[in-house]
Amino acid sequence: MSLLTDEPLGPQVTVRAPAKINLFLGVAALASDGFHPLTTVYQAVGLYDDVTVSEAGEWSLRLLGDPRVDLDAVPTDDSNIALRAARALLAHHGMEHRALAMTIHKSIPVAGGMAGGSADAAAALVATDRALDLQTPDEDLLRIAASLGSDVPFALFGGTALGRGHGEEVEPLEDAGGWWWVVVESDLGLSTPTVYRAFDDLHAQAGTSGPADAPALPASLLEALVNADVDTLAAALHNDLQAPALHLRADLGRTVEQAEAAGGRAALLSGSGPTVLVLCASRDEADGVRERLVEAGHERVTAVPAPVAGVHVVEHA
Ligand code: ATP
Repeated sequence: MSLLTDEPLGPQVTVRAPAKINLFLGVAALASDGFHPLTTVYQAVGLYDDVTVSEAGEWSLRLLGDPRVDLDAVPTDDSNIALRAARALLAHHGMEHRALAMTIHKSIPVAGGMAGGSADAAAALVATDRALDLQTPDEDLLRIAASLGSDVPFALFGGTALGRGHGEEVEPLEDAGGWWWVVVESDLGLSTPTVYRAFDDLHAQAGTSGPADAPALPASLLEALVNADVDTLAAALHNDLQAPALHLRADLGRTVEQAEAAGGRAALLSGSGPTVLVLCASRDEADGVRERLVEAGHERVTAVPAPVAGVHVVEHA
């Protein structure tokens, strides 16, 4: 009998991770380290991927997902960020020789500006830690998360949080709101690096390279969160990547217009897009907006609550 098998050799752990949106995304000019400094406010929303991990004789990755998710766009080789996360954690513990069987169940749109890959990486870190009982200290998990991608640490935190640096320096924020968002997915993904390049190009055409420092956060946004004031939050929403993304994809401008016309308090692009978000004051309002957008021809429209928890174990068998 071969030991090289993906039969579980130990407990099977499933960890759930939320998608993120950015209530504020302020982007500075490209810095000498090759990154754009950011000031951002993340919020975790009720749209999740599940990552299941168990120890196995050899590495394997299975992808499952909602029919509306473009699984063909997700790599199943070593470039998958969830596999990279698991390998990085094993290496941190000097366990490069161990192998895992991993299953990812995706509901977060791929290349949608909702950090689905980052959510999978955060879930894979925690699932691997629990499946092998590695007891990794939180600060080590956060450091490995940041080395994998700027949005990965936030997926560990969840809730609502300030992100600085490239987004990887995360600080939880007080948020008294029980917000509702309508998420309007696009049929086609949009590459984050391409949108940043369009940001640079638009500034170059205007004869600048963009602001030297990451833009400041408006105080009204923080107040809106503390006071659960939906109209103040609606007025403070901001995304510096919206103009470059709309420049690349004219259809998104129409979606934003339709989203604004469908009701709700404000519409904006999620991160680097192409997903469009509508802030709503209640679940009823969100359901109405969702119905109107479906009537307008959008097929993948979901109403989700926010903020929600970061990665959490949902099954340990
Ligand atoms: P971000 O806003 O964090 O840049 P995004 O939400 O726009 O990302 P993701 O869904 O995270 O986009 O995927 C970006 C790219 O990463 C995909 O096009 C895919 O090629 C690659 N990728 C690697 N691993 C994964 C994964 N587990 N899930 C989704 N995409 C992955």
